[in-house]
Amino acid sequence: MLQRSRVVIIGGGISGLAAAYRLCELSQAQQVPIDVTVLEGTGRFGGLIDTQQRDGFLLEAGPDAFITEKPWALDLCHRLGLAGDLIETRPDCRRSFVVQKGRLVGVPEGWFLLAPSSVRALFSSQVVSFRGKLRMACEPLIPKRQGSADESVAQFVRRRFGQEAFQRVAQPMISGIYSADPENLSLAATLPKFLEMEQTHGSIFRALKAIVNGKACGSQSKSTRTASGPRYSLFVSLRQGMGKLIDTLVARLERLEFAHLRRSQSVNEIIPREDSTWQIKTAGNASYDADILCLALPAHQAAGLVLKTAADLARNLAAIRYESVATVNVAFRSSDVPRAVDGFGFVVPAIERRHLLGCSFSSVKFPQRAADGMVLMRVFAGGALHRDVFHLDEEPLKRLLKDELAALLGIDADPIGMWIHRHAQAMPQYSVGHLDRLALIEQQMQRYRGLFLTGNWAHGLGLPDCIHQAECLAQRMFDFRLVAGTLNRSTRNRLNHR
Ligand SMILES: Cc1cc2nc3c(=O)[nH]c(=O)nc-3n(C[C@H](O)[C@H](O)[C@H](O)COP(=O)(O)OP(=O)(O)OC[C@H]3O[C@@H](n4cnc5c(N)ncnc54)[C@H](O)[C@@H]3O)c2cc1C
Repeated sequence: MLQRSRVVIIGGGISGLAAAYRLCELSQAQQVPIDVTVLEGTGRFGGLIDTQQRDGFLLEAGPDAFITEKPWALDLCHRLGLAGDLIETRPDCRRSFVVQKGRLVGVPEGWFLLAPSSVRALFSSQVVSFRGKLRMACEPLIPKRQGSADESVAQFVRRRFGQEAFQRVAQPMISGIYSADPENLSLAATLPKFLEMEQTHGSIFRALKAIVNGKACGSQSKSTRTASGPRYSLFVSLRQGMGKLIDTLVARLERLEFAHLRRSQSVNEIIPREDSTWQIKTAGNASYDADILCLALPAHQAAGLVLKTAADLARNLAAIRYESVATVNVAFRSSDVPRAVDGFGFVVPAIERRHLLGCSFSSVKFPQRAADGMVLMRVFAGGALHRDVFHLDEEPLKRLLKDELAALLGIDADPIGMWIHRHAQAMPQYSVGHLDRLALIEQQMQRYRGLFLTGNWAHGLGLPDCIHQAECLAQRMFDFRLVAGTLNRSTRNRLNHR
């Protein structure tokens, strides 16, 4: 009779649930008995993923979509039977805007986050001046950087494309996505593809051109085809909102007799025992025992839990800075919105001296977000560049954002609904040197037997990356259990020969 290994995962966001689900898949596929418990501190699973229905609107408090270029979220949806619920962005509106001198200016087709992929895309753009375009056009002449020291995203963009491209395009895009100040963000950790493009092609223009022409290697291709065949738009969501992913994971796990999901179990202490097992204590005085302990938490919360046991590890985890961001869903009658909102949304450069980071046109991007005759938008406020805005009281925050939308979109009417969701210390900032810190964390983690860490603070904060990291960690926990000798020798031999 094989002994059942006890795995306890602390944190019931997508990272914790994806790790639990993958462990259960492995346990079932390889007939290795594992007991998985997920302890979530609040009364709800999902963490930052939180879909709400209000007054006929589908509101996303956190993520509203995921990228399909990285296959892991898509694959999980397929494994969970959610393929039929995936929805694509509206094909006729696949563009976004940048605010320039108080107006919304379209980012032309062919721009890839920081840079245009062709001279045509560059010169058809109104987002930078003619002088700025000339400087950008010199990019292929800029020699590639020597040495392996990390640099900031801001330094990289200025070096290759010039100051105007940074201020008018890269800064607002990056601040919008990461709620960050690009002056501090590590290029290698945040945008490794751009680093790779420079190293491989000597120029971002040349690399993007190669990708567009389909000459680039597989990892850089724009293909979004899954193993099962269908091709998706770059971003997809679920018809019922991103919460459907969490509800489905929870329902699947709750059906398994060896998976235990526990809500309102805020863990306040973890204690290593001499026999290499762990005791986990909650604020409500509950106690759990684990052979394998996984912390699927924001780095600052993981740091607090490991402090007594592993001060060195805690120090490095705590050094990963986080920023706070608020999402504000804003609903208008379509007739009150004079300007056609025919794109995914807009971002606002810091030099425009406004208060919002950006705005997503939710009901344009995806169907069924608002009733007919209504428009739903989602404004982002706060982040590294507007910390004071995040802390505004509800009424002043609503007034500020309403006034800015009125100025930018020409909307005089009051919104028919505004819903604020604040995410304090939610966005990890991959500062310059982040990869070195992660290497240290990895080394230090290995000193504590049976302790594993995952979360959005490591190698990517988008949902596909969180899922991928969690699933890889699940495999490592599974392998650890095999090596740890819970299984008898003949079983290990059987598994090793598969
Ligand atoms: C506003 C916003 C918008 C975003 N939009 C997108 C998007 O559109 N697409 C995309 O791909 N990504 C997006 N992201 C990023 C993505 O949502 C996150 O990186 C991801 O959801 C993080 O999941 P996680 O499980 O690692 O952490 P979390 O979701 O933070 O989960 C951690 C969980 O641990 C629990 N917990 C904490 N402490 C304890 C404790 N002591 N005991 C027990 N439980 C505890 C928490 O309650 C929480 O449920 C967005 C992020 C934000 C903030």
